[in-house]
Amino acid sequence: MITGKTAVAGVAGNPVAHSLSPLIHNAWLAAAGIDGVYVAFQPPADGFRRFAEGLRGGAVRGINVTVPFKEAAFEAADEMTGRARAAGAVNLLLFRPDGTVAADNTDGEGLIGALAHQAGFDPESGPAVILGAGGAARGAATTLAAEGCPDIRIVNRTLSRAQAIAELVAGRAFPLDRCEGALEGAAVVINATTAGLSGQAPIDVPLHLTRDDAVAMDMVYKPLVTPFLARAQARGLRTVDGLEMLIRQAAPSFEAFFGRPPPPEVDVRGLALATLEAGA
Ligand code: NAP
Repeated sequence: MITGKTAVAGVAGNPVAHSLSPLIHNAWLAAAGIDGVYVAFQPPADGFRRFAEGLRGGAVRGINVTVPFKEAAFEAADEMTGRARAAGAVNLLLFRPDGTVAADNTDGEGLIGALAHQAGFDPESGPAVILGAGGAARGAATTLAAEGCPDIRIVNRTLSRAQAIAELVAGRAFPLDRCEGALEGAAVVINATTAGLSGQAPIDVPLHLTRDDAVAMDMVYKPLVTPFLARAQARGLRTVDGLEMLIRQAAPSFEAFFGRPPPPEVDVRGLALATLEAGA
């Protein structure tokens, strides 16, 4: 039921129709009995700034921000949390009634929560390899550093981008085509690339070089078991999927929009899996 008092929040991306965030947030809203709705917005690729300016004042409480707008959202904010500033990108904007825009980045919290929940992984336990050097990789690197990871190795097709993140976290950078040194003795390997998404070959790195008890995680969740995770499973590694990260970054966003944590009894993972399986 939409009423005269319905609170509105949403997600902005381009494209955005594939997003599972509306499914997750609206299931939580319904179960919590909150008069609210969570919708998807698709601003033009070069129009995020205009879109965000138009929301100043709080007619919409806030939005999650996904590809390709996380850097633009960083620029659109008046103030932000330390973790958002460190990540250089935001996935959450809040539109305050006084016209100001506050920002946060809950992706790192989602990442750490997913690693702990699905694999019992502790960031202090050993070297971390991050594949990719975009916004997601940067957020992962700064979060792992803040959580006490002793050795962060960034692997990327474009070495200069890996070097820029490595400098931020006192880590090391490796080119994708010569990354053996990065994988050697790794405790966790996280795929934060978009390789494989647009018809190119999926990411392939020498997973046999990691510790035998290492964890492999893929931020991509379509399909849930990506070729990268399938290779990790074949090698006997514990795996963590991108859907768990998505749900765990959504929970603090929900609380920021609607003032209370999501109701724990809703099986949003089951709902999302059913949607993925149906090919939506
Ligand atoms: P991005 O800024 O566009 O970065 C893409 C990265 O992928 C770059 O490092 C790029 O390398 C690399 N790459 C692209 N094509 C490649 C190929 N064919 N071979 C090797 N490397 C390739 O993207 P992003 O915002 O960081 O997001 C990365 C992924 O994480 C996306 O799939 C996104 O949906 C996902 N993500 C998931 C969650 C979640 O909650 N599950 C949260 C955040 C992000 P170059 O630098 O060489 O171009």
